[in-house]
Amino acid sequence: MELNSPVKCLYGVGDKLEKTLHSAGLFTVNDMLYYLPRAYQNRGDVKELDDESCYGQYHSYILTVANEPSVAMIKRGMNLLKFRAFDDTGKVNITYFNQNYLKDVFHTGSTFRFWGKLNKEKRTLSLTSPAYEPILPTKILDPLIPVYPLFHGMNQKLMAKLQGEIISNISTLIKDFLPEDIRLKNQLPTLQFALKNIHAPISEEALEASIKRLTFDELFLFALSISKMKVTQQDSYAPAFSYTDAEPLLSLLPYKPTNAQAKAIRELSEDLCDKNSTGKRKAMNRIVVGDVGSGKTLIAAIGAYFACKSGYQCALMAPTEILAHQHYESMKPLFDKLGISCELLTGSTPRKEKNQTLLRLKSGETQFVIGTHALIQGGVEFKELALAITDEQHRFGARQRSSLGDKGLFSHTLVMSATPIPRTLSFMIYGDLDISLIDEMPPGRQRVDTFVVDEGYRTRLNGFIEKQIKNGNQVYIVCPSVEEKKEDADNFTDYDPFASLFDEGMPPLKATVEYAEHLKNEVFPDYNIAFLHGKMKPKEKDEIMMEFAKGSIQVLVSTTVIEVGVNVPNATLMIVENAERFGLSQLHQLRGRVGRGRDKSYCVLVSDSKSEKSVERLNIMKTIYDGYSIAERDLQMRGPGDFFSSSDSVRQSGQLDLGIAKNCTDTRLVHSAFESARELLASNPALLGDELDYLRQRVEETCVSKSNTIN
Ligand code: ADP
Ligand code: MG
Repeated sequence: MELNSPVKCLYGVGDKLEKTLHSAGLFTVNDMLYYLPRAYQNRGDVKELDDESCYGQYHSYILTVANEPSVAMIKRGMNLLKFRAFDDTGKVNITYFNQNYLKDVFHTGSTFRFWGKLNKEKRTLSLTSPAYEPILPTKILDPLIPVYPLFHGMNQKLMAKLQGEIISNISTLIKDFLPEDIRLKNQLPTLQFALKNIHAPISEEALEASIKRLTFDELFLFALSISKMKVTQQDSYAPAFSYTDAEPLLSLLPYKPTNAQAKAIRELSEDLCDKNSTGKRKAMNRIVVGDVGSGKTLIAAIGAYFACKSGYQCALMAPTEILAHQHYESMKPLFDKLGISCELLTGSTPRKEKNQTLLRLKSGETQFVIGTHALIQGGVEFKELALAITDEQHRFGARQRSSLGDKGLFSHTLVMSATPIPRTLSFMIYGDLDISLIDEMPPGRQRVDTFVVDEGYRTRLNGFIEKQIKNGNQVYIVCPSVEEKKEDADNFTDYDPFASLFDEGMPPLKATVEYAEHLKNEVFPDYNIAFLHGKMKPKEKDEIMMEFAKGSIQVLVSTTVIEVGVNVPNATLMIVENAERFGLSQLHQLRGRVGRGRDKSYCVLVSDSKSEKSVERLNIMKTIYDGYSIAERDLQMRGPGDFFSSSDSVRQSGQLDLGIAKNCTDTRLVHSAFESARELLASNPALLGDELDYLRQRVEETCVSKSNTIN
């Protein structure tokens, strides 16, 4: 058996099981090894039958069978096997449905470790279909039993058996790729130890150390592979700009740029301009990151101005029609005054008009074009595009973004993102992009007062909605887009080292469409209520957003697709249903949709979650209003996973599907994995040397799997 041996080499894997494993993406022994449990049952912590604090929860009991099982038919096709068992403190009735064969397993006097939920009714204790393991003098039972995520055709026992075979070969399978000094410095166990103990932990301590090691590996390899890509992407060139004086544009604005904006403008002109120009310079690859409302659009406008004044063209791509319109309407008057021709091009531009715009872009007559993804469709040609800007870039796929750049063979790129990223993660997320951070809000911003309420406030909340509408304002209601997942039967974990996000006592989910219907029919029949969700066609979504922006819709019920970046100053109330389901950063983004006009605005987070952790998390929103502090808290409380999955920016450099590191709330570990990568690269950028052969190979593999996901 080797790491890349096919799963078929495992005992008992025939054609059928092979297919099952393939369906879950498990092709090799290595795939299996990294198919990790999602939780563990702490069966080593054995309880006694008289311990009332355990009733109703899953626990272990060591029990001796008191009588031979009896089998009774309860109805057609269903029988019940029943016996009694005891420990020193009491007796319990044990039952199994339709498992006649257990007659041959349980015999009077034999002892088992049972795992199940003890119920007490009147004075009788019962266990229904508990898991069981015989107590034998020859075998010590494992204290922690892994619970794997299952898929069609797979069960826990089978998975554990397959993993068991691999684990028994672990000493010949695994070579450690982590340099010894890094491993020791970070107090990590060997890879062999970690992989063995993640599947078959000998103790809680061993399991924790193993999780730490595998988490470290994931982040460390990711950091290394990102910098590798950075090295390979360096050499592209774009025209040097001759003109970088922002003053004429700035003087047209009713406000002064904030210090942070001014700094971003300076960084931009340093990137773009070459005083001793030979015509070309290194292409700019910059991201402007700033909280919602921090004024990123100004930076885009200035970039466009520099490009056009230098004799080149600029394109600004927005993720939605409405955003493109909004940009066009705010920028067109400015550029008119500056003598720069500016046009709009979107999917709904009439063909005739569109054709003329296309001609003017090709001839260079139009200098600045604002649009949607229509800009990157066939037929769009530029005379000399030198700056490609994408707004709210996390909403575009990497492919769309790069093809805007491709429209000008050699163009600078500028992207804007409103997703605050914790400092520790910024290098990993932005990878090869230079960052301009707008960490300051324009003066005079009103604070969006935030409340956390439960269902008990529903009536008052509806009254509050009505009040906003009567004032002539508008309301957003966001519902979670996720369907409630059916938890599988194994989900009875009392020891969950992965800090499960979804704590117990999760209230049922509000679904967008039904809720909108309910509001429309039963609560606010006199108002115009619309809904919006991801499964609608882009055109339908745009139409609804336009209607909302115009004010003809009073309440918009939506999933989180509600357009990031959209500016509807008349909206004064944001309600988030099932708020416990959202990351804090996401809530902050949503809150940023209101408070954009003169009227006092509010954000109400509705949650019926009884979990203390959820409540504590949500309460943070009442006191913290800065996106970066919120992002840091999110990282501490939910781990880095949210940042990688919610922001497409990662896909700029490839996609990282964080596995075990996803919910790692040990910020120090995240940080040190990343620092270790940085230090190693500083001393040995190409990872040369025989002792790094295996590490180099792993980084290589990480890069390959990532570039696959880009396309
Ligand atoms: P975002 O960073 O979310 O894209 P915008 O660029 O849309 O933010 O700016 C939000 C609002 O703030 C706009 O109405 C814009 O005119 C205004 N604004 C931008 N910069 C300043 C500033 N320095 N002073 C005052 N208002 C500003
Ligand atoms: Mg914006």
